[in-house]
Amino acid sequence: MINVPEIFGENVFNENVMREKLPKEVFKKLMKTIELGASLDVSIANVVANAMKDWAVDKGATHYTHWFQPMTGVTAEKHDSFISPTAGGNVIMSFSGKELIQGEPDASSFPSGGLRATFEARGYTAWDPSSYAFVKDGTLYIPTAFCSYTGEVLDKKTPLLRSMDAISKQACRILKLFGKNVERVTTTVGPEQEYFLVDKKYYDQRKDLIFTGRTLFGAMSPKGQEMDDHYFGTIKPRVAAFMADLDEELWKYGILAKTKHNEVAPAQHEIAPIFSTTNTATDNNQLVMDVAKKVALQHGMVCLLHEKPFDGVNGSGKHNNWSMSTNQGENLLNPGNDPKENAQFMLILTAVISAVDKYAKLMRISVASAGNDHRLGANEAPPAIVSVFLGDELQSIVDDIIAGTHTAGTGSAKIQLGVTTLPVFSKDNTDRNRTSPFAFTGNRFEFRMPGSSQNIACINMMLNTAVADVFKRYADELEGAEDFDAALNALVKRELTAHQRVIFNGNGYDDSWVAEAEKRGLPNLKSTPEALACYDEFVDVFEGTGVLSETELLSRKEILLEEYAKLIKIESRTMVDMAKKDILPAVGSYTKELSEIACNKKQLGLDAALEIKELEKLSALASDTYDKIEVLSAAIAGAAAVEGVQEAADYQHDTVIPAMEQLRTVADELEVNTAAKYWPFPAYDKLLFGV
Ligand code: ADP
Ligand code: MG
Repeated sequence: MINVPEIFGENVFNENVMREKLPKEVFKKLMKTIELGASLDVSIANVVANAMKDWAVDKGATHYTHWFQPMTGVTAEKHDSFISPTAGGNVIMSFSGKELIQGEPDASSFPSGGLRATFEARGYTAWDPSSYAFVKDGTLYIPTAFCSYTGEVLDKKTPLLRSMDAISKQACRILKLFGKNVERVTTTVGPEQEYFLVDKKYYDQRKDLIFTGRTLFGAMSPKGQEMDDHYFGTIKPRVAAFMADLDEELWKYGILAKTKHNEVAPAQHEIAPIFSTTNTATDNNQLVMDVAKKVALQHGMVCLLHEKPFDGVNGSGKHNNWSMSTNQGENLLNPGNDPKENAQFMLILTAVISAVDKYAKLMRISVASAGNDHRLGANEAPPAIVSVFLGDELQSIVDDIIAGTHTAGTGSAKIQLGVTTLPVFSKDNTDRNRTSPFAFTGNRFEFRMPGSSQNIACINMMLNTAVADVFKRYADELEGAEDFDAALNALVKRELTAHQRVIFNGNGYDDSWVAEAEKRGLPNLKSTPEALACYDEFVDVFEGTGVLSETELLSRKEILLEEYAKLIKIESRTMVDMAKKDILPAVGSYTKELSEIACNKKQLGLDAALEIKELEKLSALASDTYDKIEVLSAAIAGAAAVEGVQEAADYQHDTVIPAMEQLRTVADELEVNTAAKYWPFPAYDKLLFGV
């Protein structure tokens, strides 16, 4: 039996450890930096570094690393040992404040979108004291931000931290209007992580899974998810053992792993932590993905984080539950208990609704990836149209505010925000709609579009920035108001009227919504290249909030477009490779066997009509497959002539992907018609039901 409270956080240099290991003054200064986002007092760095090192060495660490999140989306690390030579040929373990605060990795091979020329290869990593350091596999991990020599950001973390500052600053101004002096508002996030588990022995036989994380071929097995018997179903012993080990590992890293269950598709599962501050939640989610992969291997399985590993069953998302909270612990999306609190809640709610409408394209951009393109708009995920779900109760209040009429039952002639009583929202009566991309769920919003493999830093950075911008405009307007109540009422009414088009409480998976959304003028950016093309529209909001400069923003666009084109290139080449080297030869062997049977039968004077029919069918399909390989190969070759990153991504989307789809259709048909023992890699039945 494990003692959870005892092991929880044992690998983390957390507040309790700091209090114990640091001199009182140093501890206080560090906590101020952590809690209020104050800048770090460098004079304490040496003391902190030394205490950290002693603690880490006690935990078996020999190395330290600045752990950062470059634009690749995965984390990066370079390990340095603590050793320092002493006279007489010995070493001591040492770690200085300078080494803690700043690192200088050679950054030339990380994507920079043209921000950093290769000759200027130096990049800097800078300690982020607001996220705890931890020991993992004999190394002290120090969460850091990553930027270029000239200070431009090269990572996902820095803009997230900037966006947290931006939203905090504006939210404090809003709260001030309600007479509250708050020093810091942090955004909170609880990401629900979906994933698949497949048996490693099957995984190892599939180049598509190895190279791309998803199956590029594969006919659906006779059974899929139609019985809905996997969702919340009994967890198989092997999976349960994996989940238990995963929880234990995560708890040791101080991650609040809370919920685990089977998801809709066979072999699909979910893990959700208790929410935390956004940057911690981001770091933790990166660790969750990392540790899940590692622990799965220990159980002879592979954890697939791709958004769409299998055609024909649900893909994986990462629901991003988001809210804002003051450093006194007030959740700003919690409807209040008295008129004043209610008015504050309505203003904040209005701001979020307005932000999502005004920056709908940005929200779409934040979840754009080649993998997620397979999910959004399919029948398991919200469409690529961004909309907000409020639920009936809140909707009727919004309607009344817009109409200027009274709420049934309140008896007031005209809604005055200041005197409206809001119903108490329970999670149960607000979260019935699971088809909405952005749903109010009682005391937070649940953003359901993010893909399972995505780093949530970008998503939350964009969400924070959008809301910060709207807060700023509201604060500018209301701070100068002569009659605050009147100005507040007018603003909320005006803004809800202007942005109500983004609210949709119906079934987001229904086709009629697509037509309705178009009528409302809501953007529907179907693919990643189409979404990324809109990046430039957001220079002002990022510069205005101080989150990203124009150069930084556009470098991100370039990186993401390049990444998209490269991914499709790898996928398409893998398909050609598998089709030519594995599928066609396998079908050839089966054809040979069938031909031999047919010849033998004929020699014996028997009827071979069946074999001949099968042979004809296989030959036609194989020949079609060959043609489709040629088409795809030509499409792949054609990419070389395309200039410009946007054009290259568009080309992959418009020309290469359709050729891939055509090849898959005919190859899957071949699979259905080929004897199982000849098929060159494990089929969907093994992958989906083989654990
Ligand atoms: P469901 O599957 O119904 O959406 P889960 O319990 O799986 O619910 O996940 C809900 C997530 O929302 C959890 O991670 C939870 O900690 C998180 N959450 C709850 N309150 C907040 C909040 N105020 N801010 C951010 N996340 C929150
Ligand atoms: Mg959820």
